[in-house]
Amino acid sequence: MKNYNVNEKGYYGEFGGAYIPEMLYPNVEELRQNYLKVMAEPEFQKEFDQLLKDYVGRPSPLYFAKRLSEKYNTKIYLKREDLNHTGAHKINNTIGQILMAKRLGKHRIIAETGAGQHGVATATVCALMGLECIVYMGEIDIKRQAPNVARMKMLGATVVPALSGSRTLKDATNEAIRDWINNPVDTHYIIGSAIGPHPYPDMVTKFQSVISEEIKWQLKEQEGRENPDYVVACIGGGSNAAGTYYHFLHETDVNIIAVEAAGLGVDSGESAATSVLGKEGIIHGCKTLLMQTNDGQITEPYSISAGLDYPGVGPMHAHLCKTGRAEFMAITDDEAMKAGLKLCELEGIIPAIESSHALAIFEQKSFKPDDVVVLSLSGRGDKDLENYIDYFKI
Ligand SMILES: *Cc1c(COP(=O)(O)O)cnc(C)c1O
Repeated sequence: MKNYNVNEKGYYGEFGGAYIPEMLYPNVEELRQNYLKVMAEPEFQKEFDQLLKDYVGRPSPLYFAKRLSEKYNTKIYLKREDLNHTGAHKINNTIGQILMAKRLGKHRIIAETGAGQHGVATATVCALMGLECIVYMGEIDIKRQAPNVARMKMLGATVVPALSGSRTLKDATNEAIRDWINNPVDTHYIIGSAIGPHPYPDMVTKFQSVISEEIKWQLKEQEGRENPDYVVACIGGGSNAAGTYYHFLHETDVNIIAVEAAGLGVDSGESAATSVLGKEGIIHGCKTLLMQTNDGQITEPYSISAGLDYPGVGPMHAHLCKTGRAEFMAITDDEAMKAGLKLCELEGIIPAIESSHALAIFEQKSFKPDDVVVLSLSGRGDKDLENYIDYFKI
């Protein structure tokens, strides 16, 4: 049977690895040598589980969406990551990484953020643990995402503007890497998705795998079986998806659907559908599928959803795509926005626009009436209210 997990060298098939500047090697190597050992410590597991329960509010419900299911004539369950503290799945990872940082003796945390969601999740856990927090953010993004900047500041983080290049996520990432090179001993870099040099994609996936661990017993309780027929998740870098798929990767009766943002359309030049438009390349320290020009320059991605507006996918997903283990679908801005509003009307849940992309697949693909489809509702829509208002002229 094929292996969909990372191998010892840090690869998923041909994707992954650690393509980093020499000066970063000691930091990444320290993490690589320790992460599995630390995660296996009973004390670590106990503290992680306790915080997920009492601070994040886990387990998140697995909710049978009755009216949505009736509309699409299949059985749809929503994994309610939107009900987590701070409103999305990202907190699962930042809790795990802050505990890892403490075990490694680090007392200074850095992160990069685009839309600000990962910055807020990082600032949150730094406040929780009383650690210094520096978040790098493109100057343009700081202007665009004022509420999240305010949240980070209230939580005690220092937000440092990245002033180079296009002054967005890519430039913030460069600044964070520069900081880490200059502060190798006392600093941990919290990456926010299943991306980056090995061991980050695997570590983030394992912290997020609590999602599919819960789905298994929750589905057993409600349907009498652990395995759904389909698991569905949206993909930016791929952390909520990795967590949702993890315990089903090698269960061949479970179909995996990955949903990317098509933006204004896959062929419009304004898109983030990496599986269609991407080629093998190196971004953020790993080899993966990446949207790039013929001479290897990274193409600016576009999506109405800030969390899916990323030019690559994590290496696990590149491998799932290449091997055909996962079916990739691309959803446009319009399709996502309509699906988001539909969930409001049918279930009384306002989803994050990222999650709305996953919800939109039911308009494109039909399922059998007795199929069980579990969909990761990765986040809540409060942060997107302005976007919804503009779009629907509410
Ligand atoms: C950040 C974000 C995503 C995309 O990130 P992944 O790492 O691909 O999961 C999806 N949904 C929400 C709500 C987010 O905040």
